[in-house]
Amino acid sequence: MLNDDELDRYARHLVLRQVGGPGQTRIRSARVLIVGAGGLGNPAALYLAAAGIGKLGLVDDDAVSLSNLQRQILFRTADIGRAKVEAGAEALKALNPGVEIESHNLRVTAANVMGLIAGYDIVADGSDNFATRFLLNDACFFARKVLVSAAVTEFEGQLATYKGHEPGCPCYRCLFPAPPPPGTVPNCSETGVLGAAAGVMGSLQGLEVLKEAAGFGTGLAGKILSYTALTAEFRTARLPKDPACPLCGTAPTIIAPPAYG
Ligand SMILES: [Zn+2]
Repeated sequence: MLNDDELDRYARHLVLRQVGGPGQTRIRSARVLIVGAGGLGNPAALYLAAAGIGKLGLVDDDAVSLSNLQRQILFRTADIGRAKVEAGAEALKALNPGVEIESHNLRVTAANVMGLIAGYDIVADGSDNFATRFLLNDACFFARKVLVSAAVTEFEGQLATYKGHEPGCPCYRCLFPAPPPPGTVPNCSETGVLGAAAGVMGSLQGLEVLKEAAGFGTGLAGKILSYTALTAEFRTARLPKDPACPLCGTAPTIIAPPAYG
């Protein structure tokens, strides 16, 4: 049952037929891990905390810098130098004290990824590197967790929901079987990124996590959504499961979780 405060705070959700009391209760019992407290993770975390997700985990090993503030809207100028997960947890707590925030001031590795995701139902990937993206994909597949993955560069964004452990649903490796060689793909400090474009993608990511948590609407499993900020265009394409996928295909070559693989 929702208490009086919650009935008031989530009033605009409660009147939505597709959410209502049952949906809001499912949102409250959901546990979501956000990997990367950056331009994507910040808006996702703000909307998820505002929406009343029961437990939110934040993973990042970085500190707030001046050049982050153009897009990382969870932080204030006075936060420069502080650990992102610490400043982020404080801001999210101030927004919604009813949400349990867990800070993980670390980098995701093969050794810690399975333990890290174990306490959550849904993982939101807003990381900025391929090593983390592949680790999270493989770990979520073996742990049977839903992975909502967003990416942004310059003026372009992509979003998909991966449930490779379910029949007919693709994983990230169905799209990209293996990481590109290190150094072949420039990162956002080299190419630049429009802050508000990251905001659009992070907000969409938070929204898709909410749909998975509360169970309303049609999610992005088996689809990939692309956004081009320069022309203000959205496109959704089908992303089929690849029978030859090394992880979730019919004859997988990756057969153990990352910590043991
Ligand atoms: Zn796959």
